[in-house]
Amino acid sequence: MELGRKLLNIQEIDEKLAEIEQKEKKLKELEEFLQKVAEKSDKLSERVDKDKKRIVGLKRDSNRLENEIEKIEQKYLKKEKEIYENNGFSPKELESIQDSIEEMKKLKNELEDELLVAMDNIEDAVQSLNKYHGRQLEVEKEHRKGKKKLLFHSESIMQRKNELLAAKEDLEKELPGEWLDYYHKTRIRYRNKVVVRMEGNICSGCRVELPIYRRQIIKENKELQICDLCGRIILPPE
Ligand SMILES: [Zn+2]
Repeated sequence: MELGRKLLNIQEIDEKLAEIEQKEKKLKELEEFLQKVAEKSDKLSERVDKDKKRIVGLKRDSNRLENEIEKIEQKYLKKEKEIYENNGFSPKELESIQDSIEEMKKLKNELEDELLVAMDNIEDAVQSLNKYHGRQLEVEKEHRKGKKKLLFHSESIMQRKNELLAAKEDLEKELPGEWLDYYHKTRIRYRNKVVVRMEGNICSGCRVELPIYRRQIIKENKELQICDLCGRIILPPE
């Protein structure tokens, strides 16, 4: 019977739409997950930028220290040369020059210690930068892959859904309103399993034997029958 077949077709479409709904839920979850991945990537990127800036500052500091050390060194070497080449200094002058050389050497040592600390800091910052940059690249890759997957599946699911909805709309136009209403009302209760086949003498929905007169009408396949017990629409065996 044409009516029964069409109701069955609608039911098949509704089953497929329910599957699509599940897939959409999964995609929604993937989308939320990707949102978190993007946030993670942003945080790592901030961290990497911070390290980069820190390294620039530290390098500037260490260059400045190196220049200062160099200048001081030249200054006291010059003084030492003066002492070496000129014996005309009075003992007092000599003492004062030697004191200032000592002062400069002391300062140079202090600056060299500072330079060592700065270089250690640069090394630490570079290590940190490499670590976070590596992670950032991994996370970005994960995000790209997920996004690609999401787009691909979203598009194919959307297309499939539209096809099914269009087919359902066409079918619904061909069905009498009261049967369509009955189908929709009942399918919520039975999760899209409203239209069932008669199996032997029983309704395959509730597994209860059907009265003889119903079985007869179902077999003749001229009029749709509803199971007295469960309310499902019963079609003749295939
Ligand atoms: Zn039944």
